[in-house]
Amino acid sequence: MLIGQILAGKGRDVVSTRPDATIAEVAKLLKARRIGAVVVMDAGGALCGIISERDLARGLADHGAKLLDMRVSQLMTAEVVTCSPDDGLDRLMKQMTEGRFRHLPVIQDGKMVGIISIGDVVKHRLQELETEAHMLHDYIAGGA
Ligand code: AMP
Repeated sequence: MLIGQILAGKGRDVVSTRPDATIAEVAKLLKARRIGAVVVMDAGGALCGIISERDLARGLADHGAKLLDMRVSQLMTAEVVTCSPDDGLDRLMKQMTEGRFRHLPVIQDGKMVGIISIGDVVKHRLQELETEAHMLHDYIAGGA
């Protein structure tokens, strides 16, 4: 299965924030949208980072309550790994496992066209496995 097919089902909505937003604002955004990460866009609309709940947890351990007033730019990961709609699910699983992250923005022709989370990956992989199991079952039942 290709990432483009997954995006066609889930939509291309990507929640973003700005580098100068506060961590308190990001925490509220994550809660309101029920997501685990947001991409960071600069004033020109270019992708300049990603910040996830894991950054907030680490930040709390490092900075304590001061964390809430810190800026996104101070905690985000600036080197964002991305994928393409033409990538396969297997490649994405490998990237997430090796990179130890659970979110991948999808880029097409230099523009962000969606984001894939580990939740999307697990959901679609399960669907693939179920389809394969049904096909095998029908094959075996047909041959009996
Ligand atoms: P996550 O597992 O997605 O919550 O993120 C774990 C860590 O990886 C955090 O420090 C994130 O900022 C970072 N991260 C998440 N997604 C990406 C990505 N696509 N590229 C680079 N770093 C990422």
